[in-house]
Amino acid sequence: MFTKILIANRGEIALRVIRAAREMGIQTVAVHSTADSDAMHVRMADEAICIGPPSGTLSYLSIPAIISACEITGAEAIHPGYGFLSENQSFVQIVEDHGIKFIGPSAAHIGIMGDKITAKETMKNLGVPCVPGSDGGVPDLETARTVAEEIGYPVIIKATAGGGGRGMKLAKTASDLDNAFRSARSEAKAAFGNDEVYLEKYLGAPRHIEVQVFGDGKGGAVHLGERDCSLQRRHQKVFEEAPGPAIDAETRARIGKTCADAIAAIGYEGAGTIEFLFENGEFYFIEMNTRLQVEHPVTEGIFGVDLVREQIRVAEGLPMSFTQDDLQVEGHSIEVRINAEKLPNFTPCPGKITQYHAPGGLGVRMDSAIYTGYSIPPYYDSLIGKLIVHGRDREEALSRLRRALGELIIDGIDTTIPLFHALLDEEAVLTGDYNIHWLEKWLETNLG
Ligand code: ADP
Repeated sequence: MFTKILIANRGEIALRVIRAAREMGIQTVAVHSTADSDAMHVRMADEAICIGPPSGTLSYLSIPAIISACEITGAEAIHPGYGFLSENQSFVQIVEDHGIKFIGPSAAHIGIMGDKITAKETMKNLGVPCVPGSDGGVPDLETARTVAEEIGYPVIIKATAGGGGRGMKLAKTASDLDNAFRSARSEAKAAFGNDEVYLEKYLGAPRHIEVQVFGDGKGGAVHLGERDCSLQRRHQKVFEEAPGPAIDAETRARIGKTCADAIAAIGYEGAGTIEFLFENGEFYFIEMNTRLQVEHPVTEGIFGVDLVREQIRVAEGLPMSFTQDDLQVEGHSIEVRINAEKLPNFTPCPGKITQYHAPGGLGVRMDSAIYTGYSIPPYYDSLIGKLIVHGRDREEALSRLRRALGELIIDGIDTTIPLFHALLDEEAVLTGDYNIHWLEKWLETNLG
């Protein structure tokens, strides 16, 4: 059993991990940059160590600083949260080489899923349905043309090393292909230092459906249903829910089993998310995230389990505390991401919070690291909180969300709260009838 773990992250996710550890009787070490001396995760952890200047590259991404913090404090394991080093294969290797346990999958599994072509090949071989496309990388325009003719237009060109929607270009017809191919490559080169691209059939109006999986690292695995994260702006999720309004119990069980079987076959350890586009009743794999997701609380809401506790347990070598049969969907959960951003352009809006009041009551969860008097530093992600609600059904969850948003007060800075008030008046949101393009179109018409 661990007696002390270090959390290589900040903000709400650092708090999230501290809370789970504390309930398990495990001591926690926070790391922080000089800009975060007053941050809540520093106050809440049992110990805190400054690991560098404000820039993320020199602090939260500094592998030597984090390893040193572990050695100084005697932490036996590292929880990476999401973002920062959570999907960095060489970090995981270095951690393990220092005799420290990484709370998450093996470096090898992170490597496989971090390369989109290898990820897709692996998933295809494991029986997971994928978007039709090229077999591996497309080296030149000539090959791109041949593949595009085979799968049919429109096609999307994507970066092998991709992430955050970069290096992705749409070719509606053959005449767009030349430009799309060249610009995807140069964007990929600039963003990731790797210009390898591949081709996929472009789906017109899919939903983004992701399956939460969990493996014990010894060949055992379960799935925890799906989340619908179709409400996105610039490929960034803003509103997530579970279960998915378009997924029935039979479909959930079928795709869930496919995913659980796939990660069981590779002996995957810990939490993972298999992301799909879902159109006309078919699932198409796009990528796997080998970490805890921002939106994991909606899954916790409908299954009543603590995913971080579970991550720590399997990292300790313990079996999972639930079986597939134990996992029955109860009610409906919704999460909205509160960002320090000014509408209508979503401009980052760091600054001092003059008043903060969190909503409460039955079925309301506020995961945030802010407090009255806290100054949000300008160096990091603009996510400052997640409001998660749970109800007996979707309708109750929606009315609870409306009620909780009404109680939430964050003064002194601009936030995305008004966006959610407005979305809760929209028929498509109320009925759950939306796809990955809906929000962008709505923003153009309503905020543009
Ligand atoms: P990234 O890792 O850069 O976020 P993903 O492969 O996860 O890239 O895709 C991000 C988003 O891009 C998807 O949620 C979807 O909105 C869009 N997208 C990706 N592949 C396709 C496709 N084949 N057809 C239509 N849209 C796609």
